[in-house]
Amino acid sequence: MTKDSSSSRSLGINTQLVRAGYDPFDYHGFINPPPVRASTVLFPTAEIMDTHAQKYTYGTRGTPTTNALCDAINELEGAAGTILVPSGLAAVTIAFLAYLSPGDHALVVDSVYGPTRHFCETMLSRFGVEAEFYDPMAGADIEKLFRPNTRLVHTEAPGSNTFEMQDIPAIVAVAHRHGAVVTMDNTWATPLYFKPLDFGVDISIQGVTKYPAGHSDVLMGTVSANAKHWPRLKETNGALGICGAPDDAYQVLRGLRTMGVRLERHQASALAVARWLEGRDDVAQVLHPALPSFPGHELWKRDFKGASGIFSFVLAVDRRQDYKRKAQAFLNALTLFGLGYSWGGFPSLALHVNLFDRKVTPPPEGGPILRLQIGLEDVADLIADLEKGFAAAKAV
Ligand SMILES: *Cc1c(COP(=O)(O)O)cnc(C)c1O
Repeated sequence: MTKDSSSSRSLGINTQLVRAGYDPFDYHGFINPPPVRASTVLFPTAEIMDTHAQKYTYGTRGTPTTNALCDAINELEGAAGTILVPSGLAAVTIAFLAYLSPGDHALVVDSVYGPTRHFCETMLSRFGVEAEFYDPMAGADIEKLFRPNTRLVHTEAPGSNTFEMQDIPAIVAVAHRHGAVVTMDNTWATPLYFKPLDFGVDISIQGVTKYPAGHSDVLMGTVSANAKHWPRLKETNGALGICGAPDDAYQVLRGLRTMGVRLERHQASALAVARWLEGRDDVAQVLHPALPSFPGHELWKRDFKGASGIFSFVLAVDRRQDYKRKAQAFLNALTLFGLGYSWGGFPSLALHVNLFDRKVTPPPEGGPILRLQIGLEDVADLIADLEKGFAAAKAV
């Protein structure tokens, strides 16, 4: 833990995670940075106040604690700059507000995080921006949807709830040819398993509420930009006054230190459960990009370094009118899986996926879709719990 961070990109990822963003000798050798809370920051003289010639000027513009997390995320993302905002959703909306103006057209992937779609259809539309939803599998064919006023392409891979993969380099090539900025919601993979900026994406977005925080108790989002797009992002952040809190930044930075080992465990357990599900007659389909049976598997294998712990499966149910009843019986029988939103924390979670708002991609067929976040419990216990769900669904 010395001052040398210049060579850190050649270090192994877990070594990077242990060191990123903060040098203990910047604060008397203490391993973690102090949580510096601030509105007012004092200036020693009127002249320095007049020119803002010091590192910190006001609480909304960063403190040593929020800066430590920004520096750590910059290092992991390979970014020119990162801003912190109070939630993952705010990270997406602030990125849209930074690069879109009235009269613009934006292309947004149809398998997008639901609240992002809601923002497009309400706020963006009210501000005169038209968002058009596109097929996650479009690849280079996305070019057909470009208009002279297309300014932004939003990607998310794998997609929310159904986990469709996207050909990110193909989409980036088209978008840049048309002068559009490419944003990516990379919450699922984290920069450990996919680095958007290395694939030409301009803006990488993370709900660090999920794996970086890791304990189901902190909300925060990060937006990281390449050099070309950083000034506009920073300016928007300052103009809106939407900033992440120092205490939350402290918790997220603490979570980052163990994220590598946690993700390895989430990955291995989720794959074990996914393979077990795939072998069952009462499962119609398993939606997990690391399974060779999954349609986007080749893209995942080509571009990603790993898979995290959330995926879905289709419970095999014949009649559509039984979908909800059987899904609910399944979920009610679980005792280790909690029923709750979000993911990336230590406990396992399950829910019945709602895809009513998809515009261009039909939902997977064959029964209700159940999403599982595989936590840090022992796999044998989780499988025994899921057995209870299958038995209960069969009984109704
Ligand atoms: C959860 C999630 C978000 C939002 O994060 P919050 O901090 O809960 O607002 C954004 N994108 C994706 C893909 C998510 O799963």
